[in-house]
Amino acid sequence: MSTEAIRVPAGTEDPVRAVSVISTGSVEIHPEHAHGTKKPLYWWLLTSRRWLPPRPINVYVVEHADGLVLFDTGQDRASVTDPSYFPRGLVGVVYDRLAKFRIGADETLDAQLGTLGYSVDDVDKAVISHLHQDHIGGIPQLSGELLITPAEWGELSGFSPEARGFLRAHIDVPGRRWKHITFTPTDDPGLAPFTEMYDVMGDGSIVLLPTPGHTPGSMSMLVRRRDLPALLMVGDLTYEAGLLERRRLPGVGDRGELGRTTDKVLALAERRPGLVILPAHDPTATQRLIASSRRPA
Ligand SMILES: [Zn+2]
Repeated sequence: MSTEAIRVPAGTEDPVRAVSVISTGSVEIHPEHAHGTKKPLYWWLLTSRRWLPPRPINVYVVEHADGLVLFDTGQDRASVTDPSYFPRGLVGVVYDRLAKFRIGADETLDAQLGTLGYSVDDVDKAVISHLHQDHIGGIPQLSGELLITPAEWGELSGFSPEARGFLRAHIDVPGRRWKHITFTPTDDPGLAPFTEMYDVMGDGSIVLLPTPGHTPGSMSMLVRRRDLPALLMVGDLTYEAGLLERRRLPGVGDRGELGRTTDKVLALAERRPGLVILPAHDPTATQRLIASSRRPA
């Protein structure tokens, strides 16, 4: 798996100066997870013997004129070096069966940002698409604002968040600067059919959209570049943009909600020709980002 960071500059007049993709190691998942299946979740989770080839654990890095913004924070290397990182017992077995992670010393968030000439201290805001472990790994290192939806934060309460994929001890780290965002109504035709949004930088260039389904509080980030196609970072709404385009829903999440959100994203893409969809674990995401710089908006 390549760990090379890719940086795509935008125009010099653009408040979005550049967008990069870095990967904090790699993950293997089952075909049923990525492509969906009619089998019940715990059935394929505990019995599937097939694994797809390793795929990236992407963090997207947006250099905006007013600050450095991350979309997701990747995997924590402690997850492979610290035997107590995951819960034990039955819950631990489920984590074991769900995914196989690899992350080297040169693949941590800090090391990967370093290849772009940044460190974790340079990050002003990190948008967390959702609170699963391969998206929260950088949280202990980040001193900037951490943006999350209240619905997603709510998943940390109630019965056994760990059994539902939320490792509280690695999320609610003392001293972090969490910001619970509130979506506001919008009639921006460039966002339709979405009717709510959160404007990250106050100039409309980086906008968050509610995209529940993978988890109840999942969100996506739309980056609008002046002279290049817009980018939509969708977290784990899909594992490959090509699957989403064929409306093939993944095997994890609320099927009804995944379907409704997928339809909205497809409708947005129809209104914004050239829109580039960038999932967190899409093996083609880097190529899609590079290709997007060769096409006018
Ligand atoms: Zn993920």
